[in-house]
Amino acid sequence: MQVVWFKRDLRLDDHWPLVNAVANGPTLCLYVYEPEIIGSDEFDSSHLQFINQSLSQLDHKLRALNSRLTYRVGSMPDVLTALHAKHPITALWSHQETGNRITYDRDLRVSKWSRDRQIPWREIPQNGVVRRLKSRDGWAKQRTTFLKRPLAEMPSKITHPSEVPAGSHKPPKALGLPATSKTELQVGGETHALETLNSFLTDRGQDYSSEMSSPVTAVDACSRLSTYLAWGCISMRRVVRELQDRQGQLRELRDTGEPVGGWLKSLRAFESRLSWHCHFMQKLEDEPELEFSNMSPVYDGLRENEFDQRHFDAWCTAQTGYPMVDACMRALHQHSWINFRMRAMLVSFASYHLWLHWRPTAVYLAKHFLDFEPGIHYSQFQMQSGTTGINAIRIYSPIKQVKDQDPTGKFIRHFVPELAAVPDRKLAEPHKMSLAEQSRSGCQIGKDYPPPIVEHAAAYKAAKDRMFAVRKHASAKVDAGRVFRKHGSRKRSNSVRNTRYSET
Ligand SMILES: Cc1cc2nc3c(=O)[nH]c(=O)nc-3n(C[C@H](O)[C@H](O)[C@H](O)COP(=O)(O)OP(=O)(O)OC[C@H]3O[C@@H](n4cnc5c(N)ncnc54)[C@H](O)[C@@H]3O)c2cc1C
Repeated sequence: MQVVWFKRDLRLDDHWPLVNAVANGPTLCLYVYEPEIIGSDEFDSSHLQFINQSLSQLDHKLRALNSRLTYRVGSMPDVLTALHAKHPITALWSHQETGNRITYDRDLRVSKWSRDRQIPWREIPQNGVVRRLKSRDGWAKQRTTFLKRPLAEMPSKITHPSEVPAGSHKPPKALGLPATSKTELQVGGETHALETLNSFLTDRGQDYSSEMSSPVTAVDACSRLSTYLAWGCISMRRVVRELQDRQGQLRELRDTGEPVGGWLKSLRAFESRLSWHCHFMQKLEDEPELEFSNMSPVYDGLRENEFDQRHFDAWCTAQTGYPMVDACMRALHQHSWINFRMRAMLVSFASYHLWLHWRPTAVYLAKHFLDFEPGIHYSQFQMQSGTTGINAIRIYSPIKQVKDQDPTGKFIRHFVPELAAVPDRKLAEPHKMSLAEQSRSGCQIGKDYPPPIVEHAAAYKAAKDRMFAVRKHASAKVDAGRVFRKHGSRKRSNSVRNTRYSET
C-alpha cells in the first residue's frame, strides 16, 4: 500500500506525490489532524474551518476517481505505526514542507520511523524552496528550473485499499476547539483557489500595482491567493503557468494595438511577489531558528527585557488610540486577511512605537492570518522589526498612513464605528479634536475611543535612536555581511542597506 500524506497541499492538481504513488500500486490518501499543530498558539479555529472545507472538496474529487480521503487524529508517526500494523505500508509520499519547529520536529520523527522500518518516505518539492541549499548564489535559477518542470496531471483512477477504515472529517468541537466567530473568511478548496486566480488574472488584477497598498482597494485588487498557496489548494507552478499564459495573451493584444490598460505592469508586480513568496520561505528553510531568534544576533537584548504587557494588550485588542492600527487589527479579527502594507504597519507600530519584541506579536498574528505561512511570516516579522541587519529600517507612521491610504476614512469608519462621525481632517489623530468637535461627533476621547497609547513623534525618535545605536557598531556591519551572504536577495548588488531610515 502506498500512502500519500496530505499536509499543506490540499489539492489534486499538480500533485506529484499522488501521481507517483498511484503509479506504484494501491494508494491510500491520508490526512492527519495532529494535536501538536491544532493545540499550538499559532493555530486557530478559522484555520481548521479552511482546512476542513478544503478536505471536503478533496474527498469529493477523490471519490470521482474511485478513491476517498482517509482521516486520522493523532501524532505522527504514531498514526503511521497503527496503520502499518494492520495494513502494511510500502512507501510514504508527501510534499516537502517548510514549517515551524513543531512540523520540523515531527518530520524528523517521521523520517526516523521510515528509516527504522525501511519504508521509503519520498518527499517532493512543491515550490521554489530548495532543501539543503549550499548558497544563495544561483538560488533564483534553481527556482526558475523548478517552475519550468511539467505540471503533474491528475490521475484518471486511483486504486483505493478498501479494507482501511476511512475515519471521518472532524469539526472543531471534536478537536476541542470552538467554532470560529470570524465572518467573511475565504472559503477553502481547490475550486475556489482556481476561481480566485482566474478572477484576478482576467478581471480584478488590472490596477493591482496602484491599488495594493490601500486597505480600501486591496481587498479586491490583490490576488487573495495567499491562503490558497499556504494550504496548498493551488500549486505555485500552476499559478505561474496561468500567469505566463495571461501575460502572453496580453502582449499579443498590445502588439496588435488593443488597449491593455495597466494589466502588464500589474502582472509584473504580481510576478515579483510570487518570487518573494519562495525567497522568504527559503530563509526559514535555511535557518529554522529564525522562528525564535533574531536573524542578526547583534540585535539580541534590544527588546527582550522591555516587554510591556499593557502595550501588547492594547495592540491585540485594537485600543491603541491610532485609528489605522486599530482598524487593521479589527479587520483581522473579523476576516483574517489584510494587505501587505497594513501588515507591515501593524508590525512596525508594535516593534518600534510600542517597542515589543517580535516573537509574541508574530505568534498573535499567526493565529489571525488565515494565510499563516511560517517561512514568510517570521522572515517578514524580522524584516519589519529591524532585526535582519540587511534591510532599511522602515518605521511606518500610523498618521501618515491614514492620509495616504484612507483619506476619507472609509476603512477606518467601517472597522472603528466609534469614529464614524469624526471629520476627515481629524481622523488620523482624533485626540486632537476640540471638546466641541468630540461632542459633535459623539466620540469622547478617553471614553468612547482611547487617547494615543504613545506619542508618535517621541516614540519614532526613540526607536530610531536605539536602532541606530546598534547599527552603527562595526560588529553590526560585519554581521550584516554574513546575513546577506546567507539570506540576501542577489537581485541588487548593494542590498546591505543597514544605515538607511525612512518614515513611511
Ligand atoms: C509581518 C508580515 C507577515 C506576513 N505573513 C504572511 C503569511 O503568514 N503568509 C503569507 O502568505 N504572506 C504573509 N505576508 C506577506 C503578504 O502580506 C501577503 O502574502 C499578502 O498580503 C497576501 O495577500 P495576496 O495573496 O492578495 O497577495 P498579492 O499581493 O496578490 O501577492 C501574491 C502572492 O505573492 C506572495 N507575496 C506577496 N507579498 C509578499 C511578501 N511581502 N513576502 C512574501 N510573499 C509575498 C504571496 O504568496 C501572495 O499570495 C506577511 C507580510 C508581513 C509584512
